Amino acid sequence: MSIDWRTTDCWLMGEASVGSKIADHVKVLCDDIGVRWAGTDNEFAAAEYVATQFQLLNLQDRSVETFSLRTADCHAASLKVVTENAWRIDTRPCLFCPSIDVEARLVNVGYGMPHELKSLGNVLSGCVALIKSEYEPFTEPRLLTVRLRDLANAGVVAAVTGSPHYGRRMSHTSASDWRDDATLVPLPLVQTSREDAARLQDRAVAGARISVRVDSDLRSTTSWNTLAKLPGALIPEQSIVLGAHHDTTPDSLGANDNGAGVAVLLETARLLAGVCNAMDVHPGRTIQFVSFGAEEQGLQGSTAFVERHFGPEPKPQFMLALDELATGPIKGTVLQFPELQELIQDQLSDLNEGLQCHVLSQLDASGDMFPFARRGIPSSFLWRWRFVGRHPETAYGHSNADTPDKLRVRELKDYAGILARFLLRLSHVPSADWPENRLDINEIVKRIEAERGAVFRTM
Ligand SMILES: [Zn+2]
Repeated sequence: MSIDWRTTDCWLMGEASVGSKIADHVKVLCDDIGVRWAGTDNEFAAAEYVATQFQLLNLQDRSVETFSLRTADCHAASLKVVTENAWRIDTRPCLFCPSIDVEARLVNVGYGMPHELKSLGNVLSGCVALIKSEYEPFTEPRLLTVRLRDLANAGVVAAVTGSPHYGRRMSHTSASDWRDDATLVPLPLVQTSREDAARLQDRAVAGARISVRVDSDLRSTTSWNTLAKLPGALIPEQSIVLGAHHDTTPDSLGANDNGAGVAVLLETARLLAGVCNAMDVHPGRTIQFVSFGAEEQGLQGSTAFVERHFGPEPKPQFMLALDELATGPIKGTVLQFPELQELIQDQLSDLNEGLQCHVLSQLDASGDMFPFARRGIPSSFLWRWRFVGRHPETAYGHSNADTPDKLRVRELKDYAGILARFLLRLSHVPSADWPENRLDINEIVKRIEAERGAVFRTM
C-alpha cells in the first residue's frame, strides 16, 4: 500500500475540523449521562455509549467486557469539634476511607514530616492529626501516603486535611500509593475545606477534641471496559492500543477528566475508520481502541484489560493513554521506557507540528498506562497538565466543577486529527525498523520496588 500522506493528512485534518463529533460525545457523556462512578448504572451507560459508537463505525471484535471491581460506598461522614455543635464542618473522606467513629484530641502536625513528629513526641498516640497534604517547602518531598503511615505508626487514629483550593471547594483525594493496592489506606483521612481547616488550626492550639465519623464499606461489584479494533492491512497480528477511561470520581461530570479523552478516542477511531472508507487508506498494524472503567478507583479497568488480553503474550507494540486532554493543546507524548523514543519522535517530527517525545525518569502510576508498563508493554501518555501550559479553567479535576463549559473543543479537534495522522504513520513503520521489545517484567518489578515511596518528579 502506497500512501499519499499529504492528501491523507488533508482529509484527516479537514474531517477532524468540520465533521467533528467531539461536542456531541461530551454532551452525551457529561450532560445526558452525567457522573460516571465505576460500578454504577451511569458508568455502564457510558461503556454502552462507547460500544454503540464503535458499532456505528463498523469496527471489529467489539465487546463490553465486565470485570470484578473493588469499590467503596460512603454512607455518611462528619467532623465535629466537641462543644461546638452548631459548626457543620465541611467533610469529604478520601477514596477507600475505612469506617471510623472516634472522639479524640486534635493535634496540628504541620506537614507531618519526621522532624515535626519527633518534636511532638508521645503526644500523638490516640489523637486525630490535622495535616497539610502539600509538600513541606524547601525539604526533600515526602509522599502523603508515607506521612500518613508515619502518623499511624505513632498511634494517630485519623487525619484531617484542608483542601488546597479556596472558596470551600473540595475534591476527591487519594491517600494511597497507586504503585501498591489503591484500596490500602494507611490511615482514615478526611478532607475539609481550606477555610474550615484554618479554623481547626486554632482549635488544635486550644486543645480541642474532635469527633470523626465515617460510615463506609468496601465491596465487590462489576465495572466495564469497552473495546474494538480497526484491523491492520499489512501486519494485522501486531497492534497499537489507544485508551481512555470513561469513569469519573463520585460527584464529577468529568468533562476534562475524562470526557475529553473519551471524545478524542471516539473521534480518532472515526477518522481512522473514515479514511479507510473515503480513501482506501488502512492502518498497517491493527489499532485497538479501549475505554476503561474504574481508572479513578486505582486503575482497575486497565489492570483487568491487560491481565485478560496480554498475559504474557502477545503484547501490543505500543500503548497510548488519553486523559485530561482539555488541560492544554497537544504538545507530544511521554514514554515510560526509552526504547521507542527515536521511533516515536521520528513519526511526530514527520507531522511537522513541533511535537516532542520525552521519557519519564520514573514509572508513573497515576494513569492507565501504568498497568501496561508493569506488564512490559511500551506505554505512554500525552504530554499534559503535569508539565507546562496548563489552562487555568481546567484546574477543577475530581470535583463537581469539572464541567463541559471548561473545554476548548477546537483544541480537542486538533488532538483527534493529529493523533489519527500519528497513529496511521506508526502503524506503517516497517517491522524491521521497530525495535524488538526487550522489556523484562522482573526488572520492571524491581524498578517499581526501588521507586516505591518516591515522589513523582512530574506531579
Ligand atoms: Zn483521568
